[in-house]
Amino acid sequence: MNSIRWQVSCFLILCLAHSTVAQTIPAAPGGTTRLYGYTTKSSAAQREWEKKFQDGIVPANMRNSMQRLAARPHHVGSPYDKDNAEWILARFKESGFDAHIESFQVLFPTPKERVVEMLAPTPFRAKLQEPVLAIDPTSNQTAEQLPTYNAYSIDGDVTGPLVYVNYGRREDYEDLDRLGISVKGAIVIARYGKSWRGIKPKVAGERGAIGCIIYSDPEDDGYYNGDDYPKGGYRPKEGVQRGSVMDTDHPGDPLTPGVGATPDAKRVALSEAKTITRIPVLPISYADALPLLSALTGPVAPEPWRGALPITYHVGPGATKVHLKVVSNWDSKPVYDVIATMRGSESPDQWVLRGNHHDAWVNGAEDPISGMVTVIEEARMLGKLHKQGWNPKRTIIYCAWDGEEPGLLGSTEWVETHREDLQKHGVAYVNSDGNERGFFDAGGSHDLERLINDIAREITDPEKDISVWQRARLYAISKAKDQEEREKIRKRADIRIGTLGDGSDYTPFLDFAGVSALDIGYGGEPDADAYHSIYDDFYWYSHFLDPNFVYARALAQTGGTTVMRIADADLIPYEYAGLADNLAKYVTDLEKLLKDKQEEFAERNLELTEGLFGAVADPTKTSVPPPHENVPPFMNFAPLKNGVEAVKKSAERYQAALANAQKDGAKDIPSSDLAAVNLNLMTIQRTFLTQLGLPRRPWFKHAIYAPGAYTGYGAKPMAAVREYMDEKKWAEADAQVPALGKVLQDVAVAIDSATDQLEKAAAHP
Ligand SMILES: [Zn+2]
Repeated sequence: MNSIRWQVSCFLILCLAHSTVAQTIPAAPGGTTRLYGYTTKSSAAQREWEKKFQDGIVPANMRNSMQRLAARPHHVGSPYDKDNAEWILARFKESGFDAHIESFQVLFPTPKERVVEMLAPTPFRAKLQEPVLAIDPTSNQTAEQLPTYNAYSIDGDVTGPLVYVNYGRREDYEDLDRLGISVKGAIVIARYGKSWRGIKPKVAGERGAIGCIIYSDPEDDGYYNGDDYPKGGYRPKEGVQRGSVMDTDHPGDPLTPGVGATPDAKRVALSEAKTITRIPVLPISYADALPLLSALTGPVAPEPWRGALPITYHVGPGATKVHLKVVSNWDSKPVYDVIATMRGSESPDQWVLRGNHHDAWVNGAEDPISGMVTVIEEARMLGKLHKQGWNPKRTIIYCAWDGEEPGLLGSTEWVETHREDLQKHGVAYVNSDGNERGFFDAGGSHDLERLINDIAREITDPEKDISVWQRARLYAISKAKDQEEREKIRKRADIRIGTLGDGSDYTPFLDFAGVSALDIGYGGEPDADAYHSIYDDFYWYSHFLDPNFVYARALAQTGGTTVMRIADADLIPYEYAGLADNLAKYVTDLEKLLKDKQEEFAERNLELTEGLFGAVADPTKTSVPPPHENVPPFMNFAPLKNGVEAVKKSAERYQAALANAQKDGAKDIPSSDLAAVNLNLMTIQRTFLTQLGLPRRPWFKHAIYAPGAYTGYGAKPMAAVREYMDEKKWAEADAQVPALGKVLQDVAVAIDSATDQLEKAAAHP
């Protein structure tokens, strides 16, 4: 479930939209000022240890680890998956961590029978097989490779006409309605991209389709972008993207929602599992898709629907008749999470966690091993510093998750099992999930925005003589669409970090346990994409992604420094002014969404009255006018705005108290007094959780951060309100506002309580 490309795009969108925020404490580049959350004395010592850490990261180590971990296919339940977990365990132990494997039993379907065939107008049977390439030494491990499939597709055997649905999003079906084409009783063929893959069968099923085929169009990740593999790095014609289509009700084992999948856990029946698709779905290559798409007649596909295949794209169905059969082995499989602890010297009950997953769809050199090897290298170096006398104040926990690809299985079951402890002890979770050459990118809870900006300012880009922070910021400016956006980026002290949806193992930490989280990585530069295919292997990675492993070094430096900085801080380095600024932006976005919808629907209704659609339509083609929509009523966002205002005031007060305590000449506060402040700080992120969770998705407890029910990986901030707005249920959306406003008021109170403690401590040093 690697999501680098998603992160980059989310990051850019958010950068483009950000506004000025008055930072109460200036950024502290260079080595003279205090680090955020540190005393003068502790800053100096910390800088020395961090420099030692960064200097000690060795690219060759990560290259060697990748060669070992990606040597064979290692999906959930495979022999090499377990072997890898044990190998990682040995590395963590070698580094001096107290490490163990924690295992869970989860539902993991694997393919038993897969058929895609066209019965009419011309018989054709899809190969559903990625070919061995002589030049690629691991592409021939056919016996161990998982066949191409979408995990958690329901079993089915269906035959029907074929309809092309573009990316298979809800708006694509509105276009189909305009063309007078229904997918009821049909099998749809959608292309990968633009929406998370699980949304495609979900919306198709809601629209009455009986089956779903997803193919990789060369426009998305094939020859349209550059030379394909093995000449270049892009997906070859028979390459297929595997992947989970688990629905978005909750991540983790479908049979144990909300509780750890331990041997004695109560399990729901398979027929009761909410996250399995309603219709069968299979992924195919464009070599297999081409005969199907070529056979379609009916209307020519709208211009934005056309991909890069050498055909005229039609919507269908015409005389096509397609047979789709999917049958899985619905087995329970073990997942092996590797958990490694370095006990804190002063506050062992405060945990800083760092993780990446180790399972892959096949060999998975990029996804996930390129991230996993940095985590292993960080642990090695932290262990080395520990031997030299470095003692982190807080406990550090390094994690290698299993079962991320099918649906965040390993991390979710672990978080569900240890939820109470995490809520008592969790300070932050720092995630990565793969890595490539390119630009630094971060998403996260915005109490850590300041911190990750500080760290990025101190890491040097391996290929340019500037910091990764400068490079990311200039990249954002280069991509800004107008002067106003460029100005906003230039004025803001920090780069606005992305909002986390549901793309990787941070989800259970932030959305279920309320632990502040970051997701970090480099990417966006390689001319390559073999995502979730047999070609994502060591040969491909070391030729096209990061041949010298210097961006691996940059990620290890970034991840490890972040962990050290949080673990050693006198005062946990959360920041709330930036958080308040982001909350304000989310509310502005909601208001804009309402206004846009009001204008859009009013305009459309007017055009219907004018007879515009009939007048401009070509009478020789079918064209259905869009439906009349009721113009949305005004909503009362006041409770939300008051909530944001309260958080803003409290944040300003906290940041002022902190600046006062950290100003030149201020006496250092004794650590015993700071301990009380830290305990208070740890409750603040937890305050965002609600008992009931999101309406209709109660597993998701966080009031601000959540994936969208129809965006999957993509985030829907303030989802309780926003999801109803997307569904045009305005009264329901309006009814959610007061409760959300109340959460923000509670957060303001929690911040105030930490400020009171801090002021008290600073007054009596
Ligand atoms: Zn991944």
